[in-house]
Amino acid sequence: MSQTSITQATPHVGEAPAFPYFNEEHAMLRETVKQFCLKEIAPYGEEWDEAGIFPRELFKKAGDLGLFGIRTDPKWGGSGLDWWATAAYVDGLSYANNGGVGMALMVQSDMTLPALEELGTDEQREEFLKPAVAGDYIAALGISEPGGGSDVANIKTRARFDGDDLVISGQKLWITNGTRSDFILLAVRTGDEGYKGISFVIFPTNTPGFSVGKKLKKIGNLSSDTAELFFDNCRVPRRYLLELNKGFYYVMQNFQGERLVAALGAVHKMERALEFAINYGKEREAFGQPIGSFQVWRHRFAEHLTSIEAGKWLCYRALDLINRGQEAVREITYGETLLLRSGSKGHVRLHADHGRVRLHHRISDRPRLARRPLEYHRRRRLRNHERDHRQTVEAVAQSLWRNCFNRQCRHNIFSQLFSAAVSNPCSARHFPSKDDALSIGTPLAQYSIVETIY
Ligand SMILES: Cc1cc2nc3c(=O)[nH]c(=O)nc-3n(C[C@H](O)[C@H](O)[C@H](O)COP(=O)(O)OP(=O)(O)OC[C@H]3O[C@@H](n4cnc5c(N)ncnc54)[C@H](O)[C@@H]3O)c2cc1C
Repeated sequence: MSQTSITQATPHVGEAPAFPYFNEEHAMLRETVKQFCLKEIAPYGEEWDEAGIFPRELFKKAGDLGLFGIRTDPKWGGSGLDWWATAAYVDGLSYANNGGVGMALMVQSDMTLPALEELGTDEQREEFLKPAVAGDYIAALGISEPGGGSDVANIKTRARFDGDDLVISGQKLWITNGTRSDFILLAVRTGDEGYKGISFVIFPTNTPGFSVGKKLKKIGNLSSDTAELFFDNCRVPRRYLLELNKGFYYVMQNFQGERLVAALGAVHKMERALEFAINYGKEREAFGQPIGSFQVWRHRFAEHLTSIEAGKWLCYRALDLINRGQEAVREITYGETLLLRSGSKGHVRLHADHGRVRLHHRISDRPRLARRPLEYHRRRRLRNHERDHRQTVEAVAQSLWRNCFNRQCRHNIFSQLFSAAVSNPCSARHFPSKDDALSIGTPLAQYSIVETIY
């Protein structure tokens, strides 16, 4: 599917009238970020996914555009705007069509630099925040360790005081921008075990004893470098320490903004994915009509639109509270829970196998394939899919038969599956929906249907 179709897409799911909180400045910011993404990121996404990293220059371009200092005080090079401006930025960023770049930029703009601005001294802000807001420095946030990420109070990386220095030893894992950051806002243990003994320290990555381990292979966000880091008696000046033993409180407080930005990122990516699916549904034909015109898909699109709208209002409710300096932990959790659940289901089914393969990847590692027209591969995959599907349905039917205890349930499930398998193996509208399957079987039967088919 060519890139241009996304921008020509109608209806533009995201083009609903702006929420009352957004003003003209926010709309201009959103449009600026959108155009930046369409020009500087989207055309290169696949190439950067393959490379597993994107060019460092992009941080400078984003810094020049002011994306790392939207809410930062102008004293440190920021624009001093509000949370609604951040929402407009995250919306525009979804046009990058590349989760990895979005993650790397947001770790700098909304996870690391706000903490440094809030907790840092003017000296620390001058030395690190200012160049990072300008995009001259790449920042990373170093909390998670091999021993745990959710359990922040259990951090093992230790910093001991030695004169005017801190000596740091330990290991971090899953650190975004980890292979090329200029400094890391590092969570270390400076006190007793438990949450009261954790502090943040600014760690320049040119410190002797610091090393980058392997770059982690991920299933998504491929263009974002996520790394394993080692600290072997690294000596940093004591003046890079932020408030002593206040790290845990800050992680818990700052996590709220991070989670809100993650939920906003999810809702706008869902919008872009739905635009993509609606266009695909217009272009792709089956049984003589665009597949998107089948009622089952129109219903699905309607369901997704509903989730997106509900998710947006939950996020904007939380954002309004945060913007007014109020607690919003519960409201953020509502939004995150709804979006991260609803975001993960849906459109892949519309694309069937085409949604599950990284076409550009298969072509590059098997050169002989490149000579044949793309349509050949799609048709071949469809044939394989139909064959696999038939085998799956039959396998399910047998296991159900074995597992179902009462006649009625057997009859219901079997008749449905068999009629689907025999009459038209691949046509979604003949297949019982997940809810149908769940409503007609015993728990055991339910389990085997869901696990095997979906
Ligand atoms: C792409 C990517 C980028 C990342 N970037 C960074 C980064 O830049 N900096 C950084 O510090 N970290 C980063 N992380 C790490 C991320 O913050 C951790 O993955 C996350 O905190 C979860 O920690 P964990 O993976 O160790 O899972 P664990 O903490 O081991 O949890 C495993 C599972 O148990 C569940 N669980 C944990 N505690 C409970 C509980 N009390 N009740 C019920 N269920 C529970 C969790 O939800 C999870 O499903 C990144 C991770 C990924 C995947």
